[in-house]
Amino acid sequence: MEEKEKNAIRLIRQEMSEKDFELYIYSLKKLAENNIDKNMSFMTELYNLRAFQFKAAEEMLENPELKFAMIVIDFANFSTINEFCGRTVGDDLLKHTADSMRTFQKEHVLLSHFRADTFGIFTPFEDKSELIDIVVKLDEMISEFKIPYKVLPAFGICIADSPTMAVSIMRDYATMALESIKGKFYAKYAFFDDEMRSQMLLNKMIENDIVDALENGHILLYIQPKVNMQTGAIEGGEALVRWHHPERGIVMPNSFIPVLERNGLVIDVDICIWRQVFGFLGKRLSEGKRVVPISINISRQHVFDSTFKDRLIDMSKEYNVPPELVPLELTESGFLENQGLMYERMHHLKEYGFKLSMDDFGSGYSNITMLKNEAMDEIKIDKGFVDDIATPKGRSILKHIIEMLRDLDLNIIVEGVEEAQQRDFLLGCGCTKAQGYYYYKPMTTADFETLLDK
Ligand code: C2E
Ligand code: CA
Ligand code: CA
Repeated sequence: MEEKEKNAIRLIRQEMSEKDFELYIYSLKKLAENNIDKNMSFMTELYNLRAFQFKAAEEMLENPELKFAMIVIDFANFSTINEFCGRTVGDDLLKHTADSMRTFQKEHVLLSHFRADTFGIFTPFEDKSELIDIVVKLDEMISEFKIPYKVLPAFGICIADSPTMAVSIMRDYATMALESIKGKFYAKYAFFDDEMRSQMLLNKMIENDIVDALENGHILLYIQPKVNMQTGAIEGGEALVRWHHPERGIVMPNSFIPVLERNGLVIDVDICIWRQVFGFLGKRLSEGKRVVPISINISRQHVFDSTFKDRLIDMSKEYNVPPELVPLELTESGFLENQGLMYERMHHLKEYGFKLSMDDFGSGYSNITMLKNEAMDEIKIDKGFVDDIATPKGRSILKHIIEMLRDLDLNIIVEGVEEAQQRDFLLGCGCTKAQGYYYYKPMTTADFETLLDK
């Protein structure tokens, strides 16, 4: 082995764990065996992913004085093109993309067709603007492809932070940048930036710390009162989770629930909150104090959990809390994705005495027919409608929605009421129940108790 290669390997050795290093050496051997230059995409004659990653690592190590970046290219609508124009046209588009990419071929540049409709460019650069130039030109060239559909390539870019940065990580980061703009027609490219990096670190923190948080009682129940707008009386509450992180302070659900929905741990968080709700109500009931229904949020992930309905029924028995005191808030999208299974489980819970509330009504996948088919006890009108009270069109839409829901004899509650003017308009429409900062923000159970005891 030459001295230069030995040095390179020593450098990598320092950056990697024992296991990663073994894997790295193994893949080096494998690649040498397979003769790297034969690792081409058959269709486009660009490097395949394996060869690309190997060569890119080599480039970086051999040219530590250069700055490198990776651009990942993907199409927002490739399957539509395949479906409506035929596979041959789809293949032609991929070949056209490869040809367009080839015009950027120069020393140290590597081009790859990863798989299906994703491509990669590994390139040296001096200034970020050169990378933008590449994607802008490439976008123009690819878009010249003549078909009746608009071709929508998107680009994610990651700049290497050191010559030993793992190429696979660069690809992950570039892909993450790309995902952030996919489907957004106004954005063509995105760099992996500090915001994405901190989002990624936050996601990692969440995944690492959540189990510990659950075990150590850092996942806490807050309650936001539901108010009768005519009388100001508190008629209920919604259970909302807060994470009291020892270092980060209070972490809000919107920043960690979506992450936990992806790995399934949201189920454990929900159960932890439900337990606190049943505990809270059970204790007050046993002390003969006033209680109001406290609704809980049901993540769609529970549809796949076969113990879900029994768990709620068991908790109701264990804490001696009648099921009608714990309404279940479900989102429309949760229902729509797995209608059969969801209906079956909900039907059972409803027979047992639980009430169902449709959360975020009108925020997305509204399915009006669901209102007549499914026995919903309450509809929560999304905050978006309340925000629109400021405009004449918004007022008209909301007025008619409330009218329709009242015609169907559904209980209505409006979320996100922040101003007196909104309250007045809603009361004028015959809607009396609300939840919003105008009345109360979510509060600790201790504060909620004080409010109930007043
Ligand atoms: P959501 O179920 O729609 O809950 C209502 C959210 O709107 C709450 O945010 C609440 O604080 C906020 N809100 C209420 N009134 C107002 C207002 O007047 N103005 C504004 N700007 N916001 C208002 P929060 O507590 O941050 O919860 C966000 C979302 O996180 C919830 O939306 C729900 O989808 C989810 N979530 C919260 N707790 C849990 C939980 O225990 N389990 C599950 N699965 N999801 C939860
Ligand atoms: Ca809710
Ligand atoms: Ca809601």
